[in-house]
Amino acid sequence: MTYDYLIVGAGLFGAVFAHEAHKKGHKVLVIEKRSHIAGNAYTQNMEGIEVHQYGAHIFHTSNRKVWDYVQQFASFNRFTNSPLARYQDELYHLPFNMNTFHELWGIITPKEAMDIIQKQIAGAKITTPTNLEEQAISLVGTEIYEKLIKGYTEKQWGCEATKLPSFIIRRLPIRYTYNNNYFNDDFQGIPVNGYTKLVKNMLEGIEVRLETDFFANKEEYCNQANQIIYTGRIDQYYDHCFGPLAYRSLSFEHQLLAMDNYQGNAVINYTDASVPYTRIIEHKHFVSDSTHVVASGKTIITKEYPSPWQPGCEPYYPINDATNTALYEQYAALASKEPKVFFCGRLGTYRYLDMHVVIEQSLQLAAQLL
Ligand code: FAD
Ligand code: UDP
Repeated sequence: MTYDYLIVGAGLFGAVFAHEAHKKGHKVLVIEKRSHIAGNAYTQNMEGIEVHQYGAHIFHTSNRKVWDYVQQFASFNRFTNSPLARYQDELYHLPFNMNTFHELWGIITPKEAMDIIQKQIAGAKITTPTNLEEQAISLVGTEIYEKLIKGYTEKQWGCEATKLPSFIIRRLPIRYTYNNNYFNDDFQGIPVNGYTKLVKNMLEGIEVRLETDFFANKEEYCNQANQIIYTGRIDQYYDHCFGPLAYRSLSFEHQLLAMDNYQGNAVINYTDASVPYTRIIEHKHFVSDSTHVVASGKTIITKEYPSPWQPGCEPYYPINDATNTALYEQYAALASKEPKVFFCGRLGTYRYLDMHVVIEQSLQLAAQLL
């Protein structure tokens, strides 16, 4: 065997595992089919601005161990995600909090907001929510659902909110305080020099082959390594033998604009159904944290368009409905019998995973195997 570990995929899962294995003296090879490292967290410096090529990536966690761990690879700024939602010509603060309620109804106190929301919830007569629409209305009432959730959700997922599982909407906080922080976590920030630099530091001293697809030479790669950390699609590993798992895809339209400041905030969501994109991000604000704007006369924005997934498209969001969950279980049963392959990360486990979760899982696997 040439390598102790073959790592398929240079995203955060693969990079953390590779770093830990290398640190312990194991011989490691990382292969990555894209032309760059860092997976979907990849950032690229364009015109002096660190551009999040696959959509906004904000690091947040309440796990001190993970937060301390990433500090060794990058300095993080104090960015706090406070997106706005645009509905037609109205602008609201997110996540749903006292600022949003004030903007919607002119009310000032938490009691006034609760009274309005509770009245709407009671009027909807939902006893046990069974889908995203019912779950959303049971949490925030009908008006916020209609203006800020329904259009965005149905664009994002390409189906009616009544067909979606309720857990998706439970990711969003609802607060009766004037606090626009999108996340409830203890720690939050963006690596000052970008995620690519962070991952590059993790992979220091490790052999990495880019533009190298595992499936181009599967057998040969398997014969070269004692163990394989596989962070690609689980269904692809088994040649889609039970049928392909479904995903939701995205396309990103990046634009360089000749102005200092396009929208005054890093993220603005577009929640009405008539706008084809879900959000516009303006990359320079991830660095400046709204305290000052670099007056360079240029800025880069990205519009994010959800799209149906088909073979050849990037698989971004797993669709964890009943059909796909059952299909995934079939693949997971095969995977559990593999003597030397570990299926990991968002594609290997068919789960939407935040970056801190991926890092935590990778460190756990490293502790178990190394
Ligand atoms: P990936 O980053 O997908 O890495 C897997 C790598 O494996 C890829 O580079 C892929 O090219 C490679 N690969 C696959 N198959 C093969 C093969 N056959 N051969 C070789 N290489 C292969 N998380 C947050 O914490 N905060 C956020 O704000 C956030 N925003 C997000 C926004 C969007 C639009 C998306 C889609 C995700 C977001 N995430 C966010 C989640 C974050 O992207 C993931 O947690 C992280 O990318 C998962 O890392 P991973 O290593 O599991 O997967
Ligand atoms: N969501 C919404 N309106 C918004 C933002 C989010 O309805 O302005 C819903 C949508 O269904 C989304 C879910 O909340 O899929 C989770 O939001 P989050 O920002 O965590 O997910 P993302 O859109 O980044 O995948």
